[in-house]
Amino acid sequence: MIIELASVGVLPKALKESFTPDDVELDGEGELVSVATLDADVFSKDEKVYIRGRIGTIIRLECTRCLENVTTPADLDFEAIFVDASKEDSESEVEVKDAALDESLVLDGRIDLREVVREQLLLSLPEQVYCSDDCKGLCPKCGTNRNLLDCKCDEGDIDPRWAALKNLR
Ligand SMILES: [Zn+2]
Ligand SMILES: [Zn+2]
Repeated sequence: MIIELASVGVLPKALKESFTPDDVELDGEGELVSVATLDADVFSKDEKVYIRGRIGTIIRLECTRCLENVTTPADLDFEAIFVDASKEDSESEVEVKDAALDESLVLDGRIDLREVVREQLLLSLPEQVYCSDDCKGLCPKCGTNRNLLDCKCDEGDIDPRWAALKNLR
């Protein structure tokens, strides 16, 4: 669904939308396994457009340690602020740059709600996620998932290629 900036009024208008996993691509950071619902208000204030509300879905991520799938609910409150680029004169442009990183400049007068949902979900993804608190991860030597199998490797003798990987974690 597209919102025309020009059509947004001062009085909040309710938005209720749902998006399929295909609508919301998370750039390989994760994958939606259910529809995403958006329940928000849109309104304008001081020449800016605000979308404020809640997004809910279920996301599949990879465990940081063992790379197995982890399914986690996402339920987040958000506020997104949009500034119409065509209305910016040179004076206030400086202000916008100073103003806030959480404001998006809209070039064509339209906000794509799909993009809003995608961006908010990407921002909400955790840096690290674990399939369980005591995930044993992958063996640094042979790469076996040690939650599933005890590979009996001697960790004192680590293949340098895996050791490099281990240092990255
Ligand atoms: Zn794990
Ligand atoms: Zn091993």
